[in-house]
Amino acid sequence: MNLTKPKFLIVSDQKWVLKKLPVVRNILSECPQLADVELVYDYRRLTPKVSKGRIEQEWFQEHISRQAILDGYLGAVFVASLAQAKRWKLKSGLRGSHFSDGDGFIEAWAAANSSSVVRFKDKSRRDLLPKVICHELGHGFTELGLTELEVHDFDYQTSINNIDGFYRELRLGDERPSLLKRLMFRLQVLLDIVRSPNP
Ligand SMILES: [Zn+2]
Repeated sequence: MNLTKPKFLIVSDQKWVLKKLPVVRNILSECPQLADVELVYDYRRLTPKVSKGRIEQEWFQEHISRQAILDGYLGAVFVASLAQAKRWKLKSGLRGSHFSDGDGFIEAWAAANSSSVVRFKDKSRRDLLPKVICHELGHGFTELGLTELEVHDFDYQTSINNIDGFYRELRLGDERPSLLKRLMFRLQVLLDIVRSPNP
């Protein structure tokens, strides 16, 4: 986990996703601690395990998180096209989701096409994928205990259009001690398992 040079892994076999990453970066970098955020695109052909319209967490951890954690990423996002989402029976209408599992690593997926846009109630619109990626990562920062902010106060489905506002207010620095505490706790749990005489 490295907050001095934060980086996120974006996994997809949809090459157009690469073109959207500068937009994602612009939104994230509204937060001072994410000003130099790095988004690394990893072209991988994966077929996720899906149950009840959602990607299974265990599949995500095994195929994406495990290596990404070792490589020092703060989180990972898997991106599917709308055709893939349909083929894999991801819940239609759900354009992304964040795994809330308390493992200290941000995990999320998103489904979109290159031309997908969100239309808000006030008739404003924006590019769907960058909004969804930033939204789900936003949930991740809250889950990690890095902020008290709630992304739904700034960006909610098609009713509130202010994902930029979330990152403008987001401050990660002050919360680092609590993150460290969580990591130390997890490390202790793992050490206890390793040292246990009856594993
Ligand atoms: Zn949400």
